[in-house]
Amino acid sequence: MTDVEGEGDEGDTEWTRPDDLPAVREALVEWYEADHRSFPWRETDDPYAILVSEVMSQQTQLDRVVDAWTEFLDRWPTTATLAAADRADVVGFWSDHSLGYNNRAKYLHEAAEQIETTYDGQFPREPAELQELMGVGPYTANAVASFAFNNGDAVVDTNVKRVTYRAFGVPDDDETFKRVANELMPASESRVWNNAIMELGGVACTQTPRCDEAGCPWREWCGAYQSGDFTAPDVPTQPSFEGSRRQFRGRVIRVLRTYDELTIDELGPRIRVDYTPDGEHGRDWLQGLLDDLAADGLVQVDDQDGTTVASLQQ
Ligand code: SF4
Repeated sequence: MTDVEGEGDEGDTEWTRPDDLPAVREALVEWYEADHRSFPWRETDDPYAILVSEVMSQQTQLDRVVDAWTEFLDRWPTTATLAAADRADVVGFWSDHSLGYNNRAKYLHEAAEQIETTYDGQFPREPAELQELMGVGPYTANAVASFAFNNGDAVVDTNVKRVTYRAFGVPDDDETFKRVANELMPASESRVWNNAIMELGGVACTQTPRCDEAGCPWREWCGAYQSGDFTAPDVPTQPSFEGSRRQFRGRVIRVLRTYDELTIDELGPRIRVDYTPDGEHGRDWLQGLLDDLAADGLVQVDDQDGTTVASLQQ
């Protein structure tokens, strides 16, 4: 990770911009494309289907949205069919499926009517125009523009804030998040990029992060991964002790896979940047971690002339 403080425009001093941005982008997209949660709305570029998924997921867990979304589109597969539906039926569907505020169903119905009457059955492609639709705010407009038309800005939601705050030290400020998120996004790739960064926040950079288990592609650049401080705007205190301890256990194993053996002071700085032998996260802390790993049969800990030496358990 390279800090370019003082270079470029004034805003760069606020966050740690990696100097190899193309590699950062490529790593995330590759990670996403290799494996990601499968949601049916990710398999379509139909703006109507995407709008319905966005409106439904504002209030409801994504897993639960899948059935409701599928049924909704079976019943009203196009804006024309939805516009022609009785509003009471649409609202009834909404409450039967516990999808949150019924107003959202009314707005969706009205938006379908707008598409049919004002836009001649064709969705507009620009975020600003999409915002003209009933009940569609800036976030939803941008999501539809991204996922249907690959024509959006970077999405900034709590997941994206958490990831960029941890990885690149972006300060907790909406304007800065927006600017940085757009700078990170490769030009004209809003569809894959927004899906990928939201997936990162959804399965890897969760409140208690799963950096190693989820194979986070940004570990080599991530400030939080290096410091062990996983606080974030929506995680004001360090995630559970066990959560961050698990990260460091994983890291010890990975480092020891590369070296036959390391003394405790050789291992320490490879595990966390703030390691100092006598510091808070120094020898005593690392010895405790190694003892746990040894008790679990994963690591061998030897005393060589008063120095702790660690290696992987053979
Ligand atoms: S390394 Fe961990 S903290 Fe950093 S971005 Fe990845 S999941 Fe988040």
